[in-house]
Amino acid sequence: MDLATRAAGIGLRSSSPLPQGLRKLNYCCQKPALSCRVVRAEVATEKAGAAKISAMEVPTTHKAWTYAEYGPPGVLKLEQIPVPDVAADEVLVKVHAAALNPVDGKRRQGKFKNTDSPLPTVPGYDVAGVVVKVGKEVSKFKEGDEVYADVSEAALNKPRQFGSLAQYTAVQEKLLALKPTRLSFAEAASLPLAILTAQEAFDRVNLKVGQSVFINGGAGGVGTLAIQLAKQVYGASLVVTTGSAGKVDLLKSLGVDKVIDYKKEKYEELPDKYDVVFDTVGECNRCVKVVKEGGAVVTLTGAVEPPGFRFVVTSNGENLAKLTPFLESGKVKALIDPKGSFTFSEVVEAFEYLETGRPTGKVVIAPIE
Ligand code: NDP
Repeated sequence: MDLATRAAGIGLRSSSPLPQGLRKLNYCCQKPALSCRVVRAEVATEKAGAAKISAMEVPTTHKAWTYAEYGPPGVLKLEQIPVPDVAADEVLVKVHAAALNPVDGKRRQGKFKNTDSPLPTVPGYDVAGVVVKVGKEVSKFKEGDEVYADVSEAALNKPRQFGSLAQYTAVQEKLLALKPTRLSFAEAASLPLAILTAQEAFDRVNLKVGQSVFINGGAGGVGTLAIQLAKQVYGASLVVTTGSAGKVDLLKSLGVDKVIDYKKEKYEELPDKYDVVFDTVGECNRCVKVVKEGGAVVTLTGAVEPPGFRFVVTSNGENLAKLTPFLESGKVKALIDPKGSFTFSEVVEAFEYLETGRPTGKVVIAPIE
């Protein structure tokens, strides 16, 4: 089956039942009237610019980055394919910005082919944009809402076949949250997968106020958010991280108490021990040596050594919305790599940069028009 036929096939699921457990969300920072006014102003502006698309005008085809075989970034092609239809529990988002995550690259390389959705794929988990169509069972979002999400509920188990590196993407209502008004689309797109990962890690280890946290790999997409969440959301009293010399000032600006230059010092040989150890690098065997007795070690990648454990992030709009007050107040900030904002035509270059393993914060694709 070709890409166009598969993409069109999304629309056949419009009779899907509302998933169990979908509940009325309680967005602490939701301001319906205000957000409505902002959105209407934007739609009016877009109408004035003839090339832009209003909420009422969804085309039948759109541009999307796709790959039909696993391989290096060069397998990615920009193609014109059908705009996905929406299932009953989904909305169609006009994508304004997307972000890359290492999982996008690993997936494209075929590392998860046993559990992947079928090829061809439109990659991309993170999205920020505007709702242009809602499925018949959608109750919490409407056309014109500015939203953001990680579009794949399970990152590795049948992730969304047609993801966010496209002009339009369909998203389950339960994965969406309203975009914090303070954030640009690019900033919002940089957050979902990484911030949900940090949040889930700290929830799983039950990080408590006053505890000490060691974050291995503080300068990455997950690390920069984990530092801020540990301090600002969970109330950690001490946050120590690893990073290379050129990133120390940035890490301190995020609230870190101490940076260990991993190129000069072996953190596991230092005397300090921590209540919670969060390994984003894949060094669980070393990280278990810096945890206090009775403490917890959580890792994201690589081999697991007891008492450490690994998990795979679950996307969840309610959990994303819980972070809204911290994002609106500026206590938690989106961090886009200084070299890492790429245009929609530069997605191959963006993947090449991501796959150096050296980005600081997030690599985003913006604007997507
Ligand atoms: P990034 O690509 O954003 O991480 C890049 C950063 O890692 C760079 O700033 C780099 O800093 C730093 N880094 C690289 N090597 C080391 C090292 N040895 N010690 C300390 N820092 C280092 O990745 P993410 O943060 O987005 O993801 C991290 C890992 O977690 C990936 O493998 C990803 O696939 C995985 N992941 C897993 C999830 C799950 O659910 N299990 C969810 C999200 C991510 P410098 O330039 O200074 O070296």
